[in-house]
Amino acid sequence: MTVVQSLIDLQEVDGRIRELELELKDLPRRKAQETARLSGVSADLQAAKTNQELANQRVKGFEEDAKALREKIQQLKTTQMGLKSNKEYQQYSIQIDLVSHDLEATENSQLAAMDDLPSAEARIADAQAKFDQEAGGVKAFCDEIDERIAAVTAELAEAQKERAEKAKLVTDPRFMLYYERLRTKRWPVVVTLTHDGVCDGCHLVQPPSVSQLVDHNAGLVACTMCGRILYRDI
Ligand SMILES: [Zn+2]
Repeated sequence: MTVVQSLIDLQEVDGRIRELELELKDLPRRKAQETARLSGVSADLQAAKTNQELANQRVKGFEEDAKALREKIQQLKTTQMGLKSNKEYQQYSIQIDLVSHDLEATENSQLAAMDDLPSAEARIADAQAKFDQEAGGVKAFCDEIDERIAAVTAELAEAQKERAEKAKLVTDPRFMLYYERLRTKRWPVVVTLTHDGVCDGCHLVQPPSVSQLVDHNAGLVACTMCGRILYRDI
């Protein structure tokens, strides 16, 4: 096996490693996106709950007001019983009427406020159902992602082992060094020199001398433009 061929074999494994690493980077991002979507649904549910709490508070407020007014009427009536003069008695009757009127208005407001309660509860039920459904879907999705992360991690470990084996087969350390340096900047590192003498990496036409060197298998031949290692695919 030529040194270039051993590099091509190494590059094949490195290509797989690159893809696995990219996927491993992308998977947690996809998981985070789904979780973020769920927090939007959770906010809807929270808003529905707050809305119901406010509706309950309104009902309770009117209830307390009505209770205070009833007590006031009772007080006025008790005082009225002990009054001696007719004039005072009538003044109290007028006051009792006024407070009774307030009480009626407050009771009506309480009833109106109570009418809002069923729809507030229905809104919570809807939001809860939607949340439960979404949460189930998101959980299933995240479980799948976790499984995939585990599978990719295992595959990556396998590929790394394979890479170590392939690297041992690259017998010329200069080729190896060159390949490793270029790998982070140019991908793929080893490319074909086409029959028209064009680098398949950057598509620059190479001088005839380069083609001759490649054809005569004269060591490491690099593209004059991008520096990729050139070989002839026969
Ligand atoms: Zn090139």
